[in-house]
Amino acid sequence: MAQSLSHTVVIIGGGAAGIATAASMLKRQRGLDIAIVEPSDVHAYQPGWTMVGAGIFEPEVTRRPMASVMPKAATWIRASAASFQPEDNQVTLDDGSTVAYELLIVAPGIRLAWEKIAGLEETLGRNGVTSNYRYDLAPYTWELVQQVKSGRAIFTQPPMPIKCAGAPQKSMYLSCDHWMRLGVLDSIDVEFRNAGGVLFGVQDYVPALMEYVERYDIALKLGSNLIAVDGEGGQATFQTEAGQETCDFEMLHVVPPQVAPQFLADSPLAAESGFTDVDPHTLQHTRYPNVFGLGDAGSMPNAKTAAAARKQAPVVAVNALRALDQKGPIAGYDGYGSCPLTVERGKIVLAEFGYGGKLMPSFPSWLIDGTKAQRLSWILKADALPWIYWNGMLKGREWLAGPGNMIAQ
Ligand code: FAD
Repeated sequence: MAQSLSHTVVIIGGGAAGIATAASMLKRQRGLDIAIVEPSDVHAYQPGWTMVGAGIFEPEVTRRPMASVMPKAATWIRASAASFQPEDNQVTLDDGSTVAYELLIVAPGIRLAWEKIAGLEETLGRNGVTSNYRYDLAPYTWELVQQVKSGRAIFTQPPMPIKCAGAPQKSMYLSCDHWMRLGVLDSIDVEFRNAGGVLFGVQDYVPALMEYVERYDIALKLGSNLIAVDGEGGQATFQTEAGQETCDFEMLHVVPPQVAPQFLADSPLAAESGFTDVDPHTLQHTRYPNVFGLGDAGSMPNAKTAAAARKQAPVVAVNALRALDQKGPIAGYDGYGSCPLTVERGKIVLAEFGYGGKLMPSFPSWLIDGTKAQRLSWILKADALPWIYWNGMLKGREWLAGPGNMIAQ
């Protein structure tokens, strides 16, 4: 018979959001009984994959054993969650066993839906088709960037929502920078094909990005959605308003469509979008007060980034501990998300914004003006942020985070 376990707090997902929340809760309440359900034996710092795709980071620095990031005081349940029974305060795992909880935190991330693009999975990692959205493929992006000297290089962006909405462009700008330095950019036709209708969702950052689109002579094709890839034939097909368009490519950098994990979308915890149905400020579930959700799997309309999870984790830690004491939430999340747009090797447009596209810079503008390409932002991305991630965020130290604005009770 399948085993049944029981823990005071159960967290689904040991990614950026899950580990940070566990660490923040344990910092506030030592000895708290927390179990983390996580199937993977490695933990990835995904923001580093853009740098791997440009030959700046070695792939290995973006991953660590899961055991090394699990808080020592937490119990690691090495399995996948398969379904939720919130009426019974219980989660069922993929082996049929159950875990009962007093408080549940849902953070299994977003699912990359590669299968939605016909012919893509068969050719990923070959025939010039790559993606920085997978650890094992990011080095192939760098390989291609070094190989390609002429022809067409296409960078795609699917419909929203996606994690790190700037990542499709980051890879393109860094590739162009390399080609420009080599003197081959003039022989390469670079296209940015975005299913959406704007270059970047927050207008304040668009002028700085447009400067680079012009500098690299990139053809902007908005409203152009990748639907099929013929790897052997070197052709990609896009759906546009005018109909389908097929073109040849030398290199194709694909960002896959992204959806809520199916087991979550199928559960009573899901919003219509399939993501965990939470209040966008308190991050408490809208129907089950002993359930919280954060990270890429949350229904909040913020930019899905690790930076967002960094700010959300302390908010959930405060409000969830209060929920355990039958008290209402007091901490609030303001929608902060951040996207360091690597426009050239050594310079970044540091987009930081909250709900409604409100600019939320972490630094005064005399130090870092996020709407302009700056060197200091590059140092932040290349050196400071990975360190803050491993040693701050995942350890509950809450640097550049804090428990959010207190909201009225
Ligand atoms: P994840 O970190 O993806 O973790 C989800 C975890 O849940 C995983 O460990 C997974 O194994 C586990 N899981 C999945 N299913 C189950 C299940 N059924 N049961 C239990 N566990 C499960 N963010 C930034 O802030 N800045 C950047 O510059 C940036 N650049 C990026 C570039 C790229 C190429 C990519 C791919 C992402 C980038 N991000 C960036 C986004 C950032 O990595 C994510 O927003 C962040 O990792 C979200 O954290 P999460 O915990 O919600 O999800």
